[in-house]
Amino acid sequence: MKCVSCKKPAEVKILYKFCRDCFITHYQRRVEKVVKKFNLIEPQDRVLIAVSGGKDSLSCADVLARLAKIIKFNLAVIHLDVGVNACTNIRTEAVIKTFCEERGIPFYFLSFREYLELPFDLEESLKFSRRPLCSSCGAIKRYILNKFAREKGFNKLATGHCADDIVRFFFKNWLSGNFDWISKFKPMTESNHPKVITRIRPLFETLEAENLAYTKFRGITVAGGSRCSYFLRKDKWTEILRSIDEKIPDFKLGLVRGLEKIEIESSFQEPLRECKICGEPTNREICSICRFKEALRVKIGWEG
Ligand SMILES: [Zn+2]
Ligand SMILES: [Zn+2]
Repeated sequence: MKCVSCKKPAEVKILYKFCRDCFITHYQRRVEKVVKKFNLIEPQDRVLIAVSGGKDSLSCADVLARLAKIIKFNLAVIHLDVGVNACTNIRTEAVIKTFCEERGIPFYFLSFREYLELPFDLEESLKFSRRPLCSSCGAIKRYILNKFAREKGFNKLATGHCADDIVRFFFKNWLSGNFDWISKFKPMTESNHPKVITRIRPLFETLEAENLAYTKFRGITVAGGSRCSYFLRKDKWTEILRSIDEKIPDFKLGLVRGLEKIEIESSFQEPLRECKICGEPTNREICSICRFKEALRVKIGWEG
């Protein structure tokens, strides 16, 4: 097995066979191409990247740290501690802190509980409201990331969502017949409200398997088990997509590149207003975070 680029012995075969060095170059160039093609980052931008400590977000942060010097933008990392036992890994904070120190990137660490001033950790708090854990966790993450980024003066919020994530979410949502989500299936979701920060997804055209190889070849330490275990347990799509992959190896990349070309009609985007209690953008009168806090007050007489 030889590297398609330099003909030295190949060390990895995902879509193509590469040696270590050629794989790293190929991977970085693909991310850079997406950043440039969709104009995700411009000089002087202030980019905050949400990092879980897993292979996807750390690969993304590593490439952005390199690009920050070329494109001349500011980069900082944020990690949100969810406070759900199954999803929290005690090594995570230390791993991300070291990663940022090595690259000279500022690092913010926030916990759901402290930021929202909750009386208990999220898992405990949710027992008192009837909401499913995963959807609440996702809503709270979006709320905190957007608010924090805006308050700290960032103008772009980056995540490590890769082609595999996009394809999985695409199938789940497509089947539910709800198309509000469709504007999120792009490398960039531009702000549609003065209080909403533009979202960018630089790994839109990379595969999970490539992120794994990238962290390995670049010697990036990953905090194991940082992917949400609730999410994994329920997810049959990973299995379904794996079987498609075996027959059509470039299926996922083909699908995300197709999504890039879809024109999004504005009718798919719900108009946003400001929550009557906290002032954050929402499509209802009171945002889901304030409704969740209100449920806690009613159920346990919490006075927070
Ligand atoms: Zn090579
Ligand atoms: Zn609110």
